[in-house]
Amino acid sequence: MTTSGARTRVTGSAADFIPPKPTLPRLREAAAGCRGCHLWEHATQTVFGEGPRNAEVMLVGEQPGDQEDLQGHPFVGPSGRLLDEGLVAAGIDRRRVYVTNAVKHFKFVRVELTRRRLHKKPSAGEVRACHPWLEEEIRLVHPRVIVALGATAAQALLGPRFRVTEQRGKVVRSEWAEAVVATVHPSAVLRAPPEAREEARREFFADLGRVARLLGKSIARTERAEMTERAERIN
Ligand code: SF4
Repeated sequence: MTTSGARTRVTGSAADFIPPKPTLPRLREAAAGCRGCHLWEHATQTVFGEGPRNAEVMLVGEQPGDQEDLQGHPFVGPSGRLLDEGLVAAGIDRRRVYVTNAVKHFKFVRVELTRRRLHKKPSAGEVRACHPWLEEEIRLVHPRVIVALGATAAQALLGPRFRVTEQRGKVVRSEWAEAVVATVHPSAVLRAPPEAREEARREFFADLGRVARLLGKSIARTERAEMTERAERIN
């Protein structure tokens, strides 16, 4: 799909905006002007991923929320605070985690009376259009473990037939990383009915705990490999 206008050209894919010789800073700069789909039109800004270039774990959500859209950073709203709590409980240092979303612009509907902006699920076409940014982030960060938060992120990475309800917390081998683990999006925990919220929170934290153990194993394996390599060099 190509739409020409006086000021913009929506191309149908973020691929048209990937800069040559991409680095994370170059990608972030280019993504700020992305017109790969229509979602940029009503959002405040592109919310690109953040975190260290060599992060061992990458968390992928669905799309920025209201606060993320306003502040320009991923996972800084209520969902982000719950995610932070879960990472602390699991012993994962967020400063060593790369956080991003499958879709980089906030999609919403506005409630006429209150003017509040309510999250609207991105379409499969919008997720597809935005996928090149995520692919580049994964290629450059090269995380050992990717955690898909919610169905949109999980299906963007593992295909449309993937069901978080059936596979949550399980290690999935994929082309993207040594391990991909899917769990719910923290906003689903926040939206759970009050009587079920504590249980949902516990299960979400337990999934992050599994990720922490996985990272521990993965790190241990690498350390062993490096020790073997050093020993071979000495001998
Ligand atoms: S949602 Fe993604 S593809 Fe669409 S305009 Fe924003 S950055 Fe580009």
